[in-house]
Amino acid sequence: MSEQTRFILSESDLPHCWYNIAADSPVPPTPVFNPMTQEPVTPDFLSVLFPMELIMQEISTERFIDIPEEVREIYKLWRPTPLLRARRLEKALGTPAHIYYKYEGASPSGSHKSNTAVAQAFYNKIAGTRAMTTETGAGQWGTALSMACRMFEMALEVYMVKVSYQQKPYRRMLMETYGAEVFASPTNRTVYGNDLLKRDPNNPGSLGIAISEAVEVAAASNGSKKYGLGSVLNHVLLHQTVIGEEALLQMDMAGEYPDVVIGCVGGGSNFSGIAFPFVRQNLKEGQRTRLLAVEPTATPSLTQGVYGFDYGDTARMAPIVKMHTLGANFMPPAIHAGGLRYHGMAPQLCALVDAGLISAVAVPQTATFEAALQFAHAEGLVPAPESAHAIRAAIDEALDAKAKDEKRVILFNLSGHGNFDLAAYEAYLSGKLEDCETIIDRDQIARQLPKVNLPSAA
Ligand SMILES: *Cc1c(COP(=O)(O)O)cnc(C)c1O
Repeated sequence: MSEQTRFILSESDLPHCWYNIAADSPVPPTPVFNPMTQEPVTPDFLSVLFPMELIMQEISTERFIDIPEEVREIYKLWRPTPLLRARRLEKALGTPAHIYYKYEGASPSGSHKSNTAVAQAFYNKIAGTRAMTTETGAGQWGTALSMACRMFEMALEVYMVKVSYQQKPYRRMLMETYGAEVFASPTNRTVYGNDLLKRDPNNPGSLGIAISEAVEVAAASNGSKKYGLGSVLNHVLLHQTVIGEEALLQMDMAGEYPDVVIGCVGGGSNFSGIAFPFVRQNLKEGQRTRLLAVEPTATPSLTQGVYGFDYGDTARMAPIVKMHTLGANFMPPAIHAGGLRYHGMAPQLCALVDAGLISAVAVPQTATFEAALQFAHAEGLVPAPESAHAIRAAIDEALDAKAKDEKRVILFNLSGHGNFDLAAYEAYLSGKLEDCETIIDRDQIARQLPKVNLPSAA
């Protein structure tokens, strides 16, 4: 076991491939449906929104997919990211557990989202896309794609959830600094947005609404604009596996192997990115690492949602996928961990949770900020409120190991820094944050789900 605190890979260790869980998952992929016809989607339908290379990755079953050199060159600006052992936090907790974290806040945009943003911008650029559209909740995805589009010289329209637009002006300014156009969603730029504003001019927006607007603009552009999604889809999870591949090498440098791997989940991409390579080691190499996805009690899709086919967005324009869902009309409470407010969850991740290969837990907001402060005080780094959910669960694991006097190796993904989230910290410090109990009516959610025409084999 190493005495080091930081485990730094050299540039030549940067992975050459992403890992595709579809090659090894014991769960067959679930079909995807056209929201208009409820029939299985055709590549034609998807090609309105995405370039063909990304569609091929979406359905690929190849185990390893080469990272293009152009993408690796940009990754090298911040990758490989560091892995750290949280020795001071271990001491503060008085735990025999060893706590490691992978730091994805090291990217220029401040979160793991740059890993897929650069890849998506690249595949769009080589396919001839002139401009991209996207949504953003807390602003991390919009920031990452703004940077990536700038690097590949494409324009970008960002539909930003209105409450975040108002609460996070610095995120908007950052996107504009990279050259993106940012709109507070719902906007009057789309049929759907106009319709919502007519009914309620003060509609605060949601991620589902913003997705609908970005999709509508791309779909109406006759192919000149394509849409980019920051989470949920298979190709996004694929791009994030660079995190877990590096972490495997770094745990090796540390001379340890994790008993549990933890990540926060909004749409499921950063968690899947660190976890899937460890799932592979479980399936193929006989390892027995526990994988733990952590969500807020305010949007408990994995722990309380219904596992069924649902629309990816509120306007029912995005494809229908099988996932743990709170219903496409779910209006999340206005908690600050904006990136974790989606009604659904990545289908590949959901299938593995349903199969019992990955577990999930929900943690309340105030306990999450308490953990964030404990981490910041010991380690110095102020985490994004989303990442703090993973920290909460990691601390709980370390305390459980202490109670059982057990050595336990804990690895979690620190998905981003919190330097643009200080208003949330201020709210917590002044006692203004409360735990919002979301009442989930599973029968009501199940009744809203669309009926799809399953092929007879499925
Ligand atoms: C977007 C975001 C998340 C949640 O999205 P996932 O797809 O679940 O990873 C978590 N942490 C940070 C810092 C984010 O920006």
